[in-house]
Amino acid sequence: MNEEEKGYVSYTFPERLLKVKKLENFGRLNQEVIRSGVCSACGTCVSICPEKALIMEGETPKLIGKCSACGICYRACAKTITSVKALVGDYVAAFVGKSALDKVNGQDGGVVTSLLMYAMDNGLIDAAIVTMKSEEDPWKPVARIVTSSEELLKSSGSVYSHSQTVEALVEAIDKGYRSIAFVGTPCNIDAVAKMQTQPFGLLHLFMKAKILKVGLFCMDSFSHEGLKEFFEEEQGIPLSSISKMGIAGGKFNISYDADKTGAWTVKELDKYRSTSCHYCRDLTSEQADISVGSVGSPDGYSTILVRTGVANELLEDAMENGYLVLEPLDREGLQRVLNLARLKKVQMYTERRRHTYVLKYVPTTAGVPEPVERVGAIPLAEEKTKEKEGIAERALRKLLKVSEARFVEGNTMLQLTLSNNSGKTINGVKVRIAQLEDLFETNSWETYIETWYPFEELEFAYPRAENDKEYLLTISDRQGTILSQKFNVKEMEGKKTE
Ligand SMILES: Cc1cc2nc3c(=O)[nH]c(=O)nc-3n(C[C@H](O)[C@H](O)[C@H](O)COP(=O)(O)OP(=O)(O)OC[C@H]3O[C@@H](n4cnc5c(N)ncnc54)[C@H](O)[C@@H]3O)c2cc1C
Repeated sequence: MNEEEKGYVSYTFPERLLKVKKLENFGRLNQEVIRSGVCSACGTCVSICPEKALIMEGETPKLIGKCSACGICYRACAKTITSVKALVGDYVAAFVGKSALDKVNGQDGGVVTSLLMYAMDNGLIDAAIVTMKSEEDPWKPVARIVTSSEELLKSSGSVYSHSQTVEALVEAIDKGYRSIAFVGTPCNIDAVAKMQTQPFGLLHLFMKAKILKVGLFCMDSFSHEGLKEFFEEEQGIPLSSISKMGIAGGKFNISYDADKTGAWTVKELDKYRSTSCHYCRDLTSEQADISVGSVGSPDGYSTILVRTGVANELLEDAMENGYLVLEPLDREGLQRVLNLARLKKVQMYTERRRHTYVLKYVPTTAGVPEPVERVGAIPLAEEKTKEKEGIAERALRKLLKVSEARFVEGNTMLQLTLSNNSGKTINGVKVRIAQLEDLFETNSWETYIETWYPFEELEFAYPRAENDKEYLLTISDRQGTILSQKFNVKEMEGKKTE
C-alpha cells in the first residue's frame, strides 16, 4: 500500500492546500504592524496594493480606498510572519487523532497518553515524564516519573500551570532510565532541547539517555496560586470540586461538582497568567519530536504535528497496533493552528514595553480633586466594584518605581518614567500628577492605565507651570495609594547642572 492509499500519511499536503485567508487584510496589517510601531515605513504595502487603496502619510501607510482583503499587503510586508515554518516550525506530517482505547480519558483525543502507552507496553521506553495533579493541593502540577501503562492512565489531562518536568527528567536519568518519553509545554521542551544541544557539562546526562520529546501546544499557563484565588475566593468554587479545566475559543472552561460547568473569558484571568507567557512565541512546541494540541481538530480529537522520523514511526506503529486512530489534518484545521500560532508570535509586536501617556488636564479646586474623565479608560460604571486582592499582590505592587524624572522639551515638560518591577500584570491603576503650591495641589492631571505589563515602562509628560516649585506623583488603585512621590524643581535643576 502506498502512502496515499493508506490515507493517513501526507508530508506535503497541508502546505499545498494552504490558502490565503480573507483574514489577512489591511486591518490586520494595521493592527499587528502599523499601530504597534513595528512598521519601518518601507512603503511596500502602498506600492503593491492592487486596489491602489493605500498611501503613505508621512511615515505611516493609510487606507484611503476600499480594502478587498486580497492579503497581498499583509503577505508582502517584511515584518509579518506568514510562512508555515515560521509559525509552527518544521514538521513532516500532520494528523488529527484520538485514542482507540476505551480506558483512556484524555484532555482532548487522549493521543499523548495512548502513544506513551504503546511505547511503554512494547518496551520502547522504560520511563515517561508526565504531570499529574497533586493529591494534597488540588490542581497543583506535580511532575512524575512513571514506568507503567496503569500510571500513564492516571496522568492524562491538562494542568494549566507550569510543571517542573525537567527536575523529574534529570532524576529519571540519575536513576538509570535510558529511554525516556518527556511530555512538556513549549517552555519545558525548550529547556530540554537546550540542555541536549548546548555544551554545559551535561554529557553525563544526555549521552546516557535517549529522550523522545512530546510537546504540547500551549497558549497560556496560569499561576497555581492565581487560579486558586480566582476560583476559590472570587467565584466560590473550591479547586477540589473541579474535575476538568480546558481552554477553547478564548474561554477558560471548567466542569465541577459532578454536573456543573463554568466559563470565563481568558482575558478575565489575565492577571493570573504566568508572566513568561507574555514573552513566549511558541504555540506548538517547535523543538519537540512530536507536538499535540487541541486547536485544529474537532472535540474529542487532538491535532498532531510530527517533526522527526522516529516519532513518525512510533505514531504509525501505535495506530497499526490498535492504540490510535489517525487521519490527515485538513487545510481548515491547519489554518486554525496557524492563526493561533500567529497570535502568539505577534505578541512580540504588541508587548507594549514603552508608552508615552498623554495626561488629561482636569481643573481642580486647590486640594480637592474632581471626578475625572480618564484617557483610554473603561467607564467608571463598568468598572468592577468588588476587586479583591491577596496580600501578596499588594506587596508586589510596592515594586512600582520612578525610574527617571527629568525636564524635557526645552524645560517645558516634566517627564516621569515609571517601571512595573513587580513581575506581574497590574490592572486598573490611576496615575496622577499635580503641581504643589504651598502644600495645595493645582493643575492636577490624571490618567488611567487599564493594563500595566510586567517590566513595562510608562512615560508621562506633564506641562510645567511658571515659577513651579514642586510636583507630586500619586499612583493608586481602587484600594488606595500605592506610591506617592514629590519632585522638587530646584533639586532637579541642580542635578542637571552638576
Ligand atoms: C498549560 C497548558 C496550556 C495549553 N494550551 C493549549 C492551547 O492554547 N491550545 C491547544 O491547542 N492546546 C493547548 N494545550 C494542550 C491540550 O490541553 C492537550 O494537552 C493536548 O491537546 C493533548 O491532549 P491529549 O488528550 O492528547 O493528551 P492527554 O492524553 O490527556 O495527555 C496530556 C499529557 O499532558 C501532560 N501534562 C498535563 N499538564 C501538563 C503541564 N502543565 N506541563 C507538562 N505536561 C502536562 C500530562 O502528563 C499528559 O501526559 C495546553 C496544555 C497545557 C498543559
